[in-house]
Amino acid sequence: MSAARIFEALGLDHGRLTDGDWVVSSPIDGAEIARVALDSPEALEAKLARSVEAFAQWRTVPAPRRGELIRRFGALLRKHKATLGALITLEAGKITAEGEGEVQEMIDICDFAVGLSRQLYGRTIASERPEHSLRETWHPLGPVGVISAFNFPMAVWAWNATLAVVCGNSLLWKPSEKTPLCAMACQHLFAQAMAGFDGAPDGLSQVVLGGRETGVALADDVRVPLISATGSCAMGRQVGARVAQRFGKSILELGGNNAIIVTASADLDLAVRAIVFGAVGTAGQRCTTTRRVFVQREVAPVLFERLQQAYAALPIGDPREAGTLVGPLIDARAFAQMEHALQVAREQGGKVVGGGRVLADRYPDAYYVLPALIEGGGALDNSFEETFAPVLYCFAYDTLDEAIACQNAVPQGLSSAIFTTDVREAERFLAATGSDCGIANVNVGTSGAEIGGAFGGEKATGGGRESGSDAWRGYMRRQTATINYSDDLPLAQGIRFG
Ligand code: NAD
Repeated sequence: MSAARIFEALGLDHGRLTDGDWVVSSPIDGAEIARVALDSPEALEAKLARSVEAFAQWRTVPAPRRGELIRRFGALLRKHKATLGALITLEAGKITAEGEGEVQEMIDICDFAVGLSRQLYGRTIASERPEHSLRETWHPLGPVGVISAFNFPMAVWAWNATLAVVCGNSLLWKPSEKTPLCAMACQHLFAQAMAGFDGAPDGLSQVVLGGRETGVALADDVRVPLISATGSCAMGRQVGARVAQRFGKSILELGGNNAIIVTASADLDLAVRAIVFGAVGTAGQRCTTTRRVFVQREVAPVLFERLQQAYAALPIGDPREAGTLVGPLIDARAFAQMEHALQVAREQGGKVVGGGRVLADRYPDAYYVLPALIEGGGALDNSFEETFAPVLYCFAYDTLDEAIACQNAVPQGLSSAIFTTDVREAERFLAATGSDCGIANVNVGTSGAEIGGAFGGEKATGGGRESGSDAWRGYMRRQTATINYSDDLPLAQGIRFG
């Protein structure tokens, strides 16, 4: 489906596909699909002012009523699931199943947020003073700035937006400059959900289109108490510091360098399937992509052999075609980074299988690659970096302690997994001395998390948590209140004053 047909199906004015200078192209074939207008600094200023006004109104709407708006939005997502999925495929290059899977993730988080809107609970705490009560309340924060990456061009916003909105905040979303159409589509459906909804203020959710400088302006603005930024570690290092400088809050969801440990007791059928999906799904362009595998030495030759066989049979091609499992890289720069990683691995003694461009005749302006396996003899410095492409480093190990230490040796700490049928190995991996990642799985790969759990990672991944569990607290401010219903004024700690 073309961008114009998708916009038409969503009821979006397709004049907006040609009303600016910013060229948007599809990674499927490199063809231009739109020229959109970016926001000027003045337009950003106006949107910020509207966001502040919208917040002042929205925070007074009862939370369960706020949840009803998200219910309406979720219904629209259900209705347009296939069309939105097709737009993700067109703009980000995901295969159809993954594009629609991303929309399903948005639907799921809407359901979660609707329930959450009746569960924004605090605690009551025993006071040390007679006839006093002590309680904790959670209040809305203000306009929430969402900066998102190209590889989850809709869902990352939805994880943030749905929670932020039921928590009583307004939204300002700066999507990746590579995927503005996905943002326009989500914003359009959100506006439709708001139409006729009593109490939803104009400006509750807005999109601001722009590049790095727009992200910087948001990060620096004191009117935006929370910035939730998803992207590379390099971006997070800058955004995190800028937001901290003005004492703002940030949720940072940054790069991953995720590993799977396969022990000798593992069910290798499961392990192979999980590794292949984790390493080549979304053409290796997920934050949770499996980038390293550590295999116990006695099963390493068998596992490497099976991985090579699976890689040789991978259907690579147009992500819209049924049967394709590996679509294109996002752009030429991503391809150059993959080539560089493979070159360095070869120079350092790694054995590289696969890699290189394919389908270049059919798609001279797009970047389809053979996913690469690298068998590492010793240390491969490059395995410490996140190369955002299907590059999988494979190492053999002798002891589980050694495997866990190697897994944890990288700067990032997002997702990790162990494949084992030995309960002691599994528990060892999950213990305080085990995986140091925000996500640790047993007999489940590194990618494809459910929305019910809190999602995020440690160390250079930024420490943020989004989505399920109690991640909602990140979008609210905590207030501790002490109430005296006595006729006296006893002081805490038994202090006598006067
Ligand atoms: P990127 O860092 O290039 O860009 C991400 C966003 O940040 C874009 O909107 C960009 O315009 C903006 N940006 C870039 N520099 C900025 C700056 N200095 N100040 C403010 N804004 C800035 O990332 P990308 O290439 O779009 O996405 C890939 C990266 O995102 C990978 O590293 C991947 O692991 C990471 N990612 C992480 C998660 C997660 O949840 N941990 C999820 C998806 C993607």
